Amino acid sequence: MRQYSPLTVVLYLIGPALILISHVGSLLPFITGLSAGAVAWAVLWYVLRMLATTGIYHRLLTHKSYQAPKLLLWLGCVMASAAGQMGPSWWKAHHLAHHQHADQLHDPHSPSVPPQGINGVYWSQGGWLLSRQFFPTKLPADVENDAFLRRLDRLHFLPLVALGAVSYWLGGWEYLGAFFLSTTVLFHGVQTVNSLSHLVGEQPFQTDDTSRNNGFVAVLTLGEGWHNLHHTFPSSSRHGITLRADRVVYLPDPTYRFIKLLERVGLATRVKVPKERHLLARARDRAWPVPPVTAPVLPSTTSPSVAPKLGRP
Ligand SMILES: [Zn+2]
Ligand SMILES: [Zn+2]
Repeated sequence: MRQYSPLTVVLYLIGPALILISHVGSLLPFITGLSAGAVAWAVLWYVLRMLATTGIYHRLLTHKSYQAPKLLLWLGCVMASAAGQMGPSWWKAHHLAHHQHADQLHDPHSPSVPPQGINGVYWSQGGWLLSRQFFPTKLPADVENDAFLRRLDRLHFLPLVALGAVSYWLGGWEYLGAFFLSTTVLFHGVQTVNSLSHLVGEQPFQTDDTSRNNGFVAVLTLGEGWHNLHHTFPSSSRHGITLRADRVVYLPDPTYRFIKLLERVGLATRVKVPKERHLLARARDRAWPVPPVTAPVLPSTTSPSVAPKLGRP
C-alpha cells in the first residue's frame, strides 16, 4: 500500500468534498430558475468535460489508444480535471486497477464484488469514493514522472474551482447553479460506466468479467458505454463495435469521432482499431470457424491494429 504525505491526503480529499458540495449546489436552480443561456452553459461544460475525460484521460493517457502532442495531453488533462473527478495520476491508477482486477477483490468499483444488489449499484455509482478504496495503492510512473501532470494531479481541484468562479462571474447564482448541476450530472454520467455497464447490456465478446455494451451509458458518456468491447480490446481507440451473427457492426461513438478529427488535423497519430478477424475471434457465441489469432499484432505506422486482450495482465 502506497504511503501518502499528509499534504497529498488533504489535497486528494478536496475532490470528494467538492463533488458533495456540487450535489448540494445542484439545488440552486430550484431557487434561481434556469434561463436558456444557463442551460446551454451547463450542457456545453458537460460535453467538453466528458470528452476530455473519455478522449484524453481514458483513451489517451490511460490506454494510449492513439498518440498526441504533449501540449494537447496537458490541456486535455486540465479540462478533464475540471470535471471534478480527480487528477491524471489518481484517475489512471484507479482505472488500470479496474482493468487488472475487473470484478475481483481488488477492483476498486465492481458492482458485484464484494457488494451485490442495490449495495453494489451504490458502491459502483460513487460509494467507493467515500471508502478507503479512494486512495490508489500505486500511482502510474509515467504520469508521476511528468512534472506538469504530477502537479496537476495534486492541484486537481483548481480547474474546477476556476470554472465555478467564471460561472458566477458570468451569470451570478443562476450560472453557478447551472455549473453545479452540470458537474453533478457529469459525475454520475461517468460513474454509470462503472455501474450500469457492468450490470445491464449485451456481451457480444468473450471476457472474464461482467463488462457489457450499454447504449444508454454510451449516450451519456459519448461512447464509453460500449464497455464489453473495451474490456476485450482495452487499447482500441474505437469502443463502438459489436457483433451481429457473423458480422462486425460499428456503433455510434462520438469520442472516436473526436479522435478521428484530431487525426485529420494532424493532432493524433497511430490511432489503434482492432482488425475484424480479431473481433470475430473473440465472439462470445461463435458458431463459425475463424482463422487462429496470433497475438500480439504490431501496429503499422498508418493503420495500427489492436491485439485482443487474452487474459488479465
Ligand atoms: Zn469496466
Ligand atoms: Zn479503460
